[in-house]
Amino acid sequence: MKIDCHNHTLFSPDGSQTIEQAVRRAAELGFGYIAFTEHMDLGFPNAARPADELIFDYKVDGRYFDAINAARAEFNDIYICGGIEVGFTPDDVREITDKLTEHPFGYIVNSVHICHGLDCYWKSYWEGYDRKRAYGEYLRCVRDSLDAPYPYDAVGHLGYIGRPSPFDKKTLIYEDFPDLLDDILKTIIKKGKILEANSSVGGCVSEGTLSLPDMSILTRYYRLGGRKINFGSDAHRTEKIGYNYDVVAKKLREIGFTHWTVMRDGKESTEIID
Ligand SMILES: [Zn+2]
Ligand SMILES: [Zn+2]
Repeated sequence: MKIDCHNHTLFSPDGSQTIEQAVRRAAELGFGYIAFTEHMDLGFPNAARPADELIFDYKVDGRYFDAINAARAEFNDIYICGGIEVGFTPDDVREITDKLTEHPFGYIVNSVHICHGLDCYWKSYWEGYDRKRAYGEYLRCVRDSLDAPYPYDAVGHLGYIGRPSPFDKKTLIYEDFPDLLDDILKTIIKKGKILEANSSVGGCVSEGTLSLPDMSILTRYYRLGGRKINFGSDAHRTEKIGYNYDVVAKKLREIGFTHWTVMRDGKESTEIID
């Protein structure tokens, strides 16, 4: 089955498609599963942006699940999951936990966008850092996020730091931080979480990178025994739904992965990677 487990719509502040448009496109492309993962970054620094810019809009939260249910009624050949992408920030874990339990999200992606109070997309994140330090700090934030006290199903776009990286060698590869990445991958496996292969690679595209994490990291994950994997395009607009699915799926099969792990009705299930 073709799946896409990471998508944003108008319910995210930076999304520009409706749920109905996204599902229609996914169904046209032959996808049998789509998950929506709207942004919930409660700890987004408010110095440069309004504090709520990347926060799932709770005023319309009812409409989110209404839209999911309406799409389910309209499209019968594709499973539609109403999830959320949580941005991990250590100071906000209590509030995040409360918000997650207030709403019946069918899938929770735990992502790191903010590290030490700075968005990796801001110049200020990189000031005074060489590549080793900038990437290492990001990975330590990811490692901390794995121990978040709130429930989550998957680890989002590991290697995100490469998307806005100002360095020539943008893609985070296994050889950059073997010990730290081993710790992260083993922890994901031990905790039974899903590792996402995210095909939105930003600046890493110039290096031929197909996913975040990079295939070198996904190969290591497989060798360590990691089998729970899924695909996400991180589409914010309709044209990006399922972006590069076939190429990424082929590479994952070459590594040895045979099944996707997805959430259905609150439970994990597997689908053959095709
Ligand atoms: Zn994200
Ligand atoms: Zn996202």
